Amino acid sequence: MVKLHDKFFKPFISAEEIDRAMARLASEIAKDVGDEIPVFVGILNGSFMVVSDFVKKYKNPCEVTFIKLASYEGVKSTEDIQRLIGLTQDLTGRTVIILEDIIDTGNTLAEVHRIFKNEKVKSLKIATLFYKPEAYKKDFKLHYVGIEIPNKFIVGYGLDYNGLGRNLPEVYQIKQTEYMTNLV
Ligand code: 5GP
Repeated sequence: MVKLHDKFFKPFISAEEIDRAMARLASEIAKDVGDEIPVFVGILNGSFMVVSDFVKKYKNPCEVTFIKLASYEGVKSTEDIQRLIGLTQDLTGRTVIILEDIIDTGNTLAEVHRIFKNEKVKSLKIATLFYKPEAYKKDFKLHYVGIEIPNKFIVGYGLDYNGLGRNLPEVYQIKQTEYMTNLV
């Protein structure tokens, strides 16, 4: 059990299970990409650990860059998406693969699609380590999914609760108590 601020979190997904999912994503993507040199785009802050571990498993030449967006404050997803920061590179004609830590409502993903709409990329694909199918409200195709999880708040492996928990090597799920039923 882990306590972050005022909330308790219980062990949910081990570092080994994450490692296996990451290896599977890397080999699926490498197979599809073939001889292209893809640009992997991480969405900060949450995806820094996903991207770091993913590219070590992706053995072929690739480029890596980051953009920053956010849709979470505390444990509630908000409709307010912050502006994009950091896409300075010309991606014309490139095979772009977005690397997400988690896809929940899909709001962040919608923003990513809006941002890339005017970029003349060769292809844009979406990969996510975690996916909450019960929470997903959009129609955008998710090309590569690591692990499907229930619609409950998690921390660890890059994901935080109010700034804490990102450094945990495994994933924890919020522990529901009678006092927290409105949070999960
Ligand atoms: P969406 O826009 O799909 O609702 O949410 C995507 C973003 O919300 C993620 O990149 C992540 O920052 C945050 N998020 C969604 N679900 C969770 C969760 O269970 N735990 C944490 N810590 N962040 C989440």
